[in-house]
Amino acid sequence: MFWQKDIETINRRNLESLQLKRLQQTVSRAYKNIPFYTDKFLEIHMKPKDIISLRDIRKLPFTSREDLRANYPFGLLAVDKEQVVRLHTSSGTTGKPKAIFFSKKDINQAAELIARCLVMTGTTKGDVLQNMMTYGLFTGALVMHYGAEKVGVLVIPAGPGNTQRQIALMQDFKSTALHITPSYALYLASVMHNEGLDPRRDLSLRRAYLGSEPYSEETRSKIENYFGIDVYNSYGLSEMNGPGVAFECIEKNGMHLWEDNFILEIIDPETGETVPEGEKGELVLTTLCREAMPILRYRTRDIVTIMPGKCRCGRTHRRISRIIGRSDDMIIIRGVNIFPQQIEQVLMGIKAVAQNYQIVLEAYDQMTVRVEISKDLFDGRVEHLVSLRNEITEKLRSEILVRPKVELLEPGTLPVSEGKSTRVIDKRTL
Ligand code: ADP
Ligand code: ZN
Repeated sequence: MFWQKDIETINRRNLESLQLKRLQQTVSRAYKNIPFYTDKFLEIHMKPKDIISLRDIRKLPFTSREDLRANYPFGLLAVDKEQVVRLHTSSGTTGKPKAIFFSKKDINQAAELIARCLVMTGTTKGDVLQNMMTYGLFTGALVMHYGAEKVGVLVIPAGPGNTQRQIALMQDFKSTALHITPSYALYLASVMHNEGLDPRRDLSLRRAYLGSEPYSEETRSKIENYFGIDVYNSYGLSEMNGPGVAFECIEKNGMHLWEDNFILEIIDPETGETVPEGEKGELVLTTLCREAMPILRYRTRDIVTIMPGKCRCGRTHRRISRIIGRSDDMIIIRGVNIFPQQIEQVLMGIKAVAQNYQIVLEAYDQMTVRVEISKDLFDGRVEHLVSLRNEITEKLRSEILVRPKVELLEPGTLPVSEGKSTRVIDKRTL
């Protein structure tokens, strides 16, 4: 099923000429209306008319999250303030937030992209979407909300948390789809399990959209099997509207990135050079349709690859892989580079592991993985725990090449996050 079949299946040649036209317009507007970009262009002696082909995008300066912070609050606005109808900020763990502005047209465009994503995965009029992302300054919930309403879906603006109420809402209003973080989905599953509820019998769920934080195929399977639903990966970031940037189709094999709205590049985070086709690198995005706040070559810090070949669904927009990591949350231990997702993937592949875990880094490069395991394993048989701990340690070692200390915990020991979860606690001083 398609929301905008023509544009979703546009041939590559037409797509690229559309991209070039929109890139030229975006660059001219940024140059004319945003002093930050005017200065950057002057520095490198470039004019918008120097963009003659798509390849010329490589001549443009990058925009970093530091640039967004330095220009907070209004510095990157390309329109009069009266044209702005919504403000979002990006969470950002340190320092000033990043302000993201939407004009009416931008709100509508972001909703269109979500509509494509929902319809592509079978959600349509008649569906009931329980939106468990955080409403408020975050983009996650509201952007999805507007897109779902556009399709004609009934949206329940539940927000995260209050798990008993979530379950009641799902039962009373027969929710068919969820929009939720992977960590909260796992938590929801464990609460339902402990209460003797069976999602296949007691709920009407058919699918869930999981995003906003990294997770593995193992976590997807765990959630699909428990709820008896299809789970689709959803990728976005506030700087690029929020959700709806890239989304899985029913093939569940990479996320189509809407290339009529964004130009995608994959670069080596160290050198800034484009990596060869198919290699992993940092995703860099340029907005093509944003009115209030166009952004050129934004360094997302998210590490991905482009999936090769055509997708069976018929869409021509290229697919990116699951997010392999964020270049800034890579852990380096004794010279070995480790992404938290590698640890998650191992843990979620082990049946006895419940839903929550934490990685603690301490002095002298010590890594402790604290992991909650199923209640029934605390049956007083110490040898069960010892052998499980050995199994987890060994599997982690063979994946990350470093032997961590593993601590087994009873379910409910670690804090539960409602929004993005904090998995890595870094206590190292250097
Ligand atoms: P912040 O950068 O402050 O966390 P956002 O709330 O905009 O701000 O989060 C965007 C980031 O969330 C992305 O850059 C990415 O790292 C992460 N993210 C979003 N969706 C996914 C997903 N499906 N898989 C992995 N990571 C994701
Ligand atoms: Zn597809």
